[in-house]
Amino acid sequence: MAERVAVIGAGQMGNGIAHVFAQSGFDVTMIDVSGPALERGKSTIAANLDRQIKKGSLQAADKDAILGRIATSQGFDAAADASLIVEAATENKDLKFKIFSDLDTAAGSSAILATNTSSISITEIAARTKRPEKVIGMHFMNPVPVMQLVEVIRGLATSDETTQRVLELSKAVGKTPVEVQDYPGFVANRILMPMINEAIYCLMEGVGTAESIDTVMKLGMNHPMGPLALADLIGLDTCLAILEVLHDGLGDPKYRPCPLLRKYVAAGWLGRKTKRGFYAY
Ligand code: NAD
Repeated sequence: MAERVAVIGAGQMGNGIAHVFAQSGFDVTMIDVSGPALERGKSTIAANLDRQIKKGSLQAADKDAILGRIATSQGFDAAADASLIVEAATENKDLKFKIFSDLDTAAGSSAILATNTSSISITEIAARTKRPEKVIGMHFMNPVPVMQLVEVIRGLATSDETTQRVLELSKAVGKTPVEVQDYPGFVANRILMPMINEAIYCLMEGVGTAESIDTVMKLGMNHPMGPLALADLIGLDTCLAILEVLHDGLGDPKYRPCPLLRKYVAAGWLGRKTKRGFYAY
């Protein structure tokens, strides 16, 4: 039997993580509190596999086997036989604390508990469990099947053994891991989010339209996507949550979230996932 990986959360990151593990031959259990989210997650994986087939990076004959390796569940009991659990639920500190405390009970004693959090302290999450040495950040990028990087974040208590295993597992799913330490936002979002926030200030102050701001960054800096389109892809609620963590954790006013970002999130304009953000979808 193949090694089993459980993924908590079937949203855009969770279904992507389930996709790459199943495609690399692992048995996967995708767990979400929401039944409809599990349905959407599975159909997104099927659609993304079709896209890979069209591009010629996947054989059509492999699709059913990959989908067949993905089970779904609404309860953490289904994670009991997993050797690795990757949590990719909503970016909310208290929610993640509760999930890790519950997973500590539901998971096998040797299982590694990884989180895909964009910014929440691995050390604090680990402290909610009785196995902090087995808790680690495994930060995939969006869209997971396409992006090469996994930021592997060591909490204060994470063991060398856990880190080595997660570096190996990242390579086993075809990714390139980079090991970093646990400070707010790690490396990726510590650098990315201030840029996105500044782009939102430019929009709020009328320095440019969304299109002109994104065009400057695409054509002027050779970024494949403009910062506002990227914020819509990430999810504006997730961007706001990350900026709050940077602001609280580092205490520097330069990380204060732009009021226009707060306003969009309050309106429920969260980007692509709600079909409305800085752009309409
Ligand atoms: P999302 O909103 O698309 O999905 C979150 C999912 O979590 C939802 O399906 C929700 O039903 C589920 N959920 C909520 N509470 C749960 C619980 N108690 N148990 C199980 N499932 C639960 O969010 P996302 O964009 O996939 O982000 C997920 C995580 O990945 C966050 O920590 C985020 O910071 C991180 N992340 C996001 C991106 C990005 O670009 N969106 C990139 C890297 C990392």
